[in-house]
Amino acid sequence: MTTNGAARHGHLPAQFHPACNRSAECGAYWSVLTVSRFVVQLHDATTLHFDLRLQIGGVLRSWAVPKGPSLDPAVRRLAVPVEDHSISAGDFEGVREGQSRGSGAVIIWDEGPAEIVRTEPEHVSFVVSGRKLSGGFALTRTGEHRWILVKVRDEHARPGSDVVAERPASVRSGRTWQDLAGVLTSTEQAGPPARMTGQEAEQRRRV
Ligand code: MN
Repeated sequence: MTTNGAARHGHLPAQFHPACNRSAECGAYWSVLTVSRFVVQLHDATTLHFDLRLQIGGVLRSWAVPKGPSLDPAVRRLAVPVEDHSISAGDFEGVREGQSRGSGAVIIWDEGPAEIVRTEPEHVSFVVSGRKLSGGFALTRTGEHRWILVKVRDEHARPGSDVVAERPASVRSGRTWQDLAGVLTSTEQAGPPARMTGQEAEQRRRV
């Protein structure tokens, strides 16, 4: 948070107050007051993956993280750098039709203010304050198109936890990616997505 922003607290409309607990409004608050922002979108494209985006230099620098972030510092997650996105792309939740890389269902899995601590060609570290993720994270390049995302050992670390499995839904709407993708088309079909094979999920998705 900028000191400038902190000084303006008292003049903000009530819905932009830090105590607000509806994330769309908090999102507006963050865009007003913070130097940076992060968003993690869960994207049902050719393969299901998470898109980690960090606001750096007027764009959202982005990595595709197949298994998503973890709060366990012992867990190393592959993060593949992808093209920068516009700031507004971080607000998208919905379904994009078509066959392009960005198509498919997208939910905003987590978001919030971020402080970018270091940006180097082969290392980016940052501290976030999201609904699901908090504290420090580090991205380190380990090869061509290959980075590793890890949780920094701090008071927000939760060894042994699996935040992706525990909290699958959108922080904005409460919907899951299956809700958007139409995977669950009736109560008979409802069940843990983990039970479905990829092929079954694919077939249901096309219904
Ligand atoms: Mn994606």
